[in-house]
Amino acid sequence: HSVNQYRDTWIEIDVKAIASNVKSVKTLHHPDVNVMAVVKADGYGHGAVTVARTALESGADWLGVALLEEAVELRNAGVDAPILVLGPINPQDASVAQHYRISITAFQSEWLAEASPHLDPESALHVHLKCDTGMGRIGLTDEQTLLDMLKMLKSDKRFTFTGIFTHLATADEWGSEYLSRQLKAFQSYVQLAKEVAGPIPYIHYSNSAASLRYPGNDYNMVRFGISMYGLVPAVETATDIPVSLKPAMSLHSRLTHVKKVQPETSISYGATYQASEEEWIGTVPIGYGDGWLRANATNGGEVLVKGQRCPMVGRICMDQMMIRLPSEIPVGTKVTLIGKQKHEEISIEEVSERLSTITYEIPCLLNGRIPRVNI
Ligand code: PLP
Repeated sequence: HSVNQYRDTWIEIDVKAIASNVKSVKTLHHPDVNVMAVVKADGYGHGAVTVARTALESGADWLGVALLEEAVELRNAGVDAPILVLGPINPQDASVAQHYRISITAFQSEWLAEASPHLDPESALHVHLKCDTGMGRIGLTDEQTLLDMLKMLKSDKRFTFTGIFTHLATADEWGSEYLSRQLKAFQSYVQLAKEVAGPIPYIHYSNSAASLRYPGNDYNMVRFGISMYGLVPAVETATDIPVSLKPAMSLHSRLTHVKKVQPETSISYGATYQASEEEWIGTVPIGYGDGWLRANATNGGEVLVKGQRCPMVGRICMDQMMIRLPSEIPVGTKVTLIGKQKHEEISIEEVSERLSTITYEIPCLLNGRIPRVNI
């Protein structure tokens, strides 16, 4: 616990699990394939700097972020590895990327034209061109734009063309027809770019799902996000993942109040829960103000106390919630909302299914009010 932490609710980040997951993906690929550790959104809620350092020590070569500020944060923390901003940045901010030696993503000729005057002619900004082959989000969608951009990159000393990539829309699903179509479209962009510009240092298209499920397909870099955190990209295709992933995040709290209630006593806002008999009710200091959504209780969610599953009862409040205990249990007893106790485990997959969402959302939802402790 850091010195200024008083609350009894915390997230543990198992850095050894992250290291193990990075090493696992590397075993599936040729040693020449680079691993880009994707640490956007504060390392999917795990702490970007910790995750970046751990991943690099475990064999990752690159870091991927979504925003320029996320890249600058890593540089300011002393992280020296190559970083690619995967999302779009404003052309007038290109000089910031150049100053911090951060590679950027481009996909519009106009962007290059607007960015160029902001750049120092003495050092080149490294550009990865993004092709939209079926994700429909960002990326160039025709060969003419690719040719125009390659021409601009070649003729302007302020830029260096260092990579080309695309992003897959369906790599975590059963059925690979859509993925094959994306791969084919990408292959023709890559071929054209090579014909015009010669060898390209970095060519990348795999995310976690593709890098784990189709490891033969990649070029020379994979972008490894969700599975670095030990989570499956989709619960439906989890059985298709050939390595054992170790979840890095767990979430814990402690009972702040324990009481015996009489039958028909109601609990929390709206008095929606009523004890059906004499019950032991515990109060836990976490709520939707921490990103622990009310739907966790409405959808029959459970937490662990002394290795036993206990249901959340009544509505989750902003800072607190109540659970039903099997018996009298002392104030201060540890409550695990995500993670293991004895032989029981509540996984992020379980929480994501409870909330009818994907694994990615759960660690991102748990906000900065909950301190992260590296273990
Ligand atoms: N590449 C890009 C462009 C992304 O947006 C993301 C994440 O959404 C990733 C790679 C990493 O994907 P995943 O977390 O599924 O490995």
